[in-house]
Amino acid sequence: MRRRIILLGPPAAGKGTQAEKLQLQFGMKTTSPGAILRLELREGTELGIEADRYTGKGQLAPDSLILPMLRNALARDTEGVIFDGFPRTVPQAVALDEMLGGHGPDAAVLLDVDLDEIRDRVMHRLACTDCGRSFSLRLQLECALAPCPQCGGALVRRGDDDPAALEQRMAEYAAKTEPLINYYEARNLLFRVDGCGTPEEVFSRIEGIVK
Ligand code: AMP
Repeated sequence: MRRRIILLGPPAAGKGTQAEKLQLQFGMKTTSPGAILRLELREGTELGIEADRYTGKGQLAPDSLILPMLRNALARDTEGVIFDGFPRTVPQAVALDEMLGGHGPDAAVLLDVDLDEIRDRVMHRLACTDCGRSFSLRLQLECALAPCPQCGGALVRRGDDDPAALEQRMAEYAAKTEPLINYYEARNLLFRVDGCGTPEEVFSRIEGIVK
């Protein structure tokens, strides 16, 4: 079984949703720098506030903030990890290879979603201010004022889901993250998956890669 799985893909490709499903089904822990930074910001920590200078504008946060988080997570999770949103640059991929010692990741799963679908998903996405999970007004919520289906918390739009920040995130993805496709293809670790359809349909395409 593949237990060190990288989820790659543009914003709103479904990385967080699929990470949660993989964790439930196969038991590996998820490491999501974006989710950690949002939690840190909600708690008003120095890390959260510093990172928000970048994340709030849709830019990648500097490696000096991201890499220590990853090292911490990897020190705890030796049984397997799902990387949701890491690496996002080739230097981060090189750093990850080093952190994982001789083993490296087992697979990089690229969730393919086109631009119109991304914009539509982002427009319909709300995140819980308490548990941090994301939900879609198209799929799981009846109205924008609904409470979080998971914990009853208040749902709001993510700060970086506004149109200007989204355009910046897409530009960052194209310039800095897309080169990872070649990086993992060259190592025979890349698996392309159609990211369209329901979360369950997408998960059924990923399951076979992990098993
Ligand atoms: P995400 O929740 O994965 O969409 O990430 C939200 C934001 O957190 C990104 O737009 C970046 O600003 C920041 N972030 C998450 N992962 C990384 C990473 N690997 N490197 C740099 N910044 C990151």
